[in-house]
Amino acid sequence: MIAIPRQKPVFRFAPSPNGPLHLGHALSAFLNRDMAASNHGRFLLRMEDIDLTRCTPEFEADIYADLEWLDIDWELPVRRQSEHFSEYQTALNGLIERGLAYPSFLTRGEIRARVAAADTTALAWPRDPDGSPLYPPDDRERTEDSRQALLASGLKHAWRLDMARALALVDEPMSWTETGDGETGRVIANASGWGDVVLSRSDAPSSYHLCVVVDDAVQGITHVVRGLDLFHATSVHRLLQTLLGLPAPIYHHHRLIIDEEGLKLSKSRGDTGLAELRESGASPTDIRRLVGL
Ligand code: GLU
Repeated sequence: MIAIPRQKPVFRFAPSPNGPLHLGHALSAFLNRDMAASNHGRFLLRMEDIDLTRCTPEFEADIYADLEWLDIDWELPVRRQSEHFSEYQTALNGLIERGLAYPSFLTRGEIRARVAAADTTALAWPRDPDGSPLYPPDDRERTEDSRQALLASGLKHAWRLDMARALALVDEPMSWTETGDGETGRVIANASGWGDVVLSRSDAPSSYHLCVVVDDAVQGITHVVRGLDLFHATSVHRLLQTLLGLPAPIYHHHRLIIDEEGLKLSKSRGDTGLAELRESGASPTDIRRLVGL
């Protein structure tokens, strides 16, 4: 019998070095590392540092220190998104050339004003699954002449996916295999509720959604293990993977660690940071117990 070589499973932990890691990150990192080990797979680390104003080398160094303390080993080299902007640009250019992305010029203030005005009427402004207002249709409906004139004027702009056009291109219902703590099995993707998602920001030459699908493909990720807060974003990721001809990993969205008030931990609220816990005498075993492992 001929032995068919089976691809080793590849897992990744992908924090953003824009603040200290907290218990929620520890759960993600432990689960990725444990699942990689029990599946005889590989465990990679990725720095999602496209936000050049909020991500710092100090936060990145702290992430390495926290993971080392937790006795989590990762393969080298670490992929840093900030070193791969040209790859994301190539993916974006492909979508632009196919008429699937358009430049968007509205400022945050302009969008806010539009949403506030609509919200005073009976017809509230539509929102995405995270509760953010959908991008207004103005720039999508712009004539080519007006678009070119605005681009030539040097006005700051982002690039957005034309969701309706993109969905019209994919005929089969998209789905993914989910093994996490919420809905499991074959999940049907529903990207339309996200509207015209951003692909490259005016202040960063890419966006989370675009980078994550490019990187997962480039790094050969077979299993994406991350928090349930990203469950719905997976619909956008499946759409981009389909448009760009990239493989679909298996997804495992794990439970979130919540604080005493029942809120998700966040970097900005100064929640239980791993460094603080370490300094107050906690051991890595205590951290495993605190995250319920
Ligand atoms: N960088 C994201 C975060 O820190 C994780 C993205 C992902 O795992 O897909 O929340």
